[in-house]
Amino acid sequence: MVGGGIHGTHLSLALREAGVPAHRIRILDPGPRLLNRWFDWTSRTGMEHLRSPGVHHIGLAPFALLRFADRRGRRRREMKGRTRRPSVELFRDHSLQVIREADLDALLLRGSLEAIGPHPRGGLQVETDRGVLHTRRLLLAPGQPPPSGGPKWVPGLREAGLPVVPLFGPDFPLGDLARSACRTGRPIVVVGGGISAVQLALRLVRDEVPVALVSRHPLRIHRLDSDPGWMGPRNLAAFRAQPDPARRRQIIVEARHRGSVPDPLARALRAAAVRTDLELLLARRILGSARHGDPPGEPALLLDGGEILPASSVVLATGVGEGVPGASWIRDTSHRLGLPLAGCGFPRVDGGLHWGEGIQCSGGLAELELGPAARNIVGARMAAARVLETDPTGTGPA
Ligand SMILES: Cc1cc2nc3c(=O)[nH]c(=O)nc-3n(C[C@H](O)[C@H](O)[C@H](O)COP(=O)(O)OP(=O)(O)OC[C@H]3O[C@@H](n4cnc5c(N)ncnc54)[C@H](O)[C@@H]3O)c2cc1C
Repeated sequence: MVGGGIHGTHLSLALREAGVPAHRIRILDPGPRLLNRWFDWTSRTGMEHLRSPGVHHIGLAPFALLRFADRRGRRRREMKGRTRRPSVELFRDHSLQVIREADLDALLLRGSLEAIGPHPRGGLQVETDRGVLHTRRLLLAPGQPPPSGGPKWVPGLREAGLPVVPLFGPDFPLGDLARSACRTGRPIVVVGGGISAVQLALRLVRDEVPVALVSRHPLRIHRLDSDPGWMGPRNLAAFRAQPDPARRRQIIVEARHRGSVPDPLARALRAAAVRTDLELLLARRILGSARHGDPPGEPALLLDGGEILPASSVVLATGVGEGVPGASWIRDTSHRLGLPLAGCGFPRVDGGLHWGEGIQCSGGLAELELGPAARNIVGARMAAARVLETDPTGTGPA
């Protein structure tokens, strides 16, 4: 298993449950524990509840998280709304219990996959930053690619002395940024109009840190990041009947509500802008750096219309990378093993999510088969169902 995130952990659990012995599964991930990136990224945003319903989690039975909440005193109260969206803490505690009960941490092998090729004795050779592995079956679940370099004004801002930090980059020194904002009285400028940007802005408001949110677009209100019909046959049947991968890619792009927020969060943001000093600059563009003060000397941003926005730092909360997860080794593997890529660069997988002999995909890498919800938590459940369909006895090599 490549990737010990939500997908890799759920798939490993599903394989264990289907009878694959523990000694035949290894989860390759650079993190110190399973779900490390999930815990890290969700805590960076300060999000309080998941966007997805309570039946989407890493356990096996759909109602396992609800039962977990019931068994622990009154934790049902941590599930919000009609779809029972769990709190981040409830989701985390349940995930940790699932991992502990199935002893999944014991399967973690720390390292990063760098290349896949044929092994001289048959099967696959997996080159990692910590050595070479030999396997007959690989499941690829590396999650989203890291964010790209950012907008073209980023280098200019950095040259002008403003720290510019991606929310989902390697480090996120929020404590330093918050202290600098409080000391100078100049806000942290959060750039982005999607759920992560809004959650971060609300977190900073709660912590009484000066903050401004700048989004290129007005708030786009959607409960989920794609229609729930994409979680089942309602939309997927027609999608799978479409033979052309370019058309499938177009359907995915059109179906995704990129940069959107659920209504309650949008209302909380607007209320915070009225109640507090939060500056909300929607449908506005950043043009570059400027100077502020009398005499002008303090770093600031130049916005369209000539407005100058003082800033102590800028956080790019414009989401994670949208492109091909593991793009360089995916391209290299396609070349070395002769495996098909679609024009968009994503693997062309079959109905069982096989890319080639012994290689199956999950998450973004499987989206040309699983559709727009493939990258979500529910995508892990959809992928596990397909993977197990192709090896129902669970006796295949893992
Ligand atoms: C702040 C935030 C909130 C979200 N909230 C929701 C939500 O409420 N509901 C929902 O459905 N989705 C949500 N998502 C989307 C969410 O990221 C996915 O649902 C989920 O994390 C996807 O799981 P994953 O395993 O594909 O990716 P991740 O959880 O990111 O895990 C991928 C793992 O692969 C590892 N990896 C990457 N490359 C390699 C390599 N070369 N070798 C070895 N290991 C590698 C990484 O280290 C990482 O541990 C949210 C995303 C973010 C950022």
